Amino acid sequence: MPSLPAAAASVPAELSGATLLTIVGLGLLAAWAVSLLLHPYTACGSCKGTPRSYGAIATRSFRLWPGCGGTGRQLRAGARIWPQNRS
Ligand SMILES: [Zn+2]
Repeated sequence: MPSLPAAAASVPAELSGATLLTIVGLGLLAAWAVSLLLHPYTACGSCKGTPRSYGAIATRSFRLWPGCGGTGRQLRAGARIWPQNRS
């Protein structure tokens, strides 16, 4: 059996697997919350972020995709935990 590094060996015995899992889980949750704060939007699911539907004849003409109102973006799931994303 390979010997563990000194840092890993110094972890207190009472830090069980479940406790460690909780800490890691909370860390991931915090990272996710910060991610939602910094980047609350994702590309719209129906138009994939390109909300313009171009015409076949007049190729420079387009209409805006109705699903997202032509923004091409949608709020990420859970982004409403931050007050500025509620409207
Ligand atoms: Zn869209």
